[in-house]
Amino acid sequence: MSECLFCKMVAGEIKPDVVFEDDDVLAFRDVNPQAPMHVLVIPRVHIATTNDLTPDNAAVLGKLYLAAKQIAADEGVAEPGYRMVMNCNPEAGQSVYHLHLHVLGGRAMAWPPG
Ligand code: AMP
Repeated sequence: MSECLFCKMVAGEIKPDVVFEDDDVLAFRDVNPQAPMHVLVIPRVHIATTNDLTPDNAAVLGKLYLAAKQIAADEGVAEPGYRMVMNCNPEAGQSVYHLHLHVLGGRAMAWPPG
């Protein structure tokens, strides 16, 4: 996936502001934050959208959420609260086609989302 922006981050060709990483996931600050704390958690493996998930991806999907939980604690938003969002395809606003979990916190969130 040589043209995938987030694969280039995984490969070290582009250096994001990393807040967490392990063998399976990478997490970094969103370049255009929508909240005081806005981190993206991505799998190292390329998965384009949630529509492309298979049972083989169950473990890495769980790891995305466990990383998000840790990041929320580290960033001090676990108790006040935070939101996790995964956009799928154009009507949801997906712009980067490498699965990513948005973790947003540091302000009160509205519902329903826009
Ligand atoms: P989505 O619109 O759900 O696909 O989210 C993609 C996110 O990637 C957006 O919130 C962008 O601001 C973010 N983004 C795009 N390029 C970069 C980058 N180079 N570093 C960090 N975040 C990025």
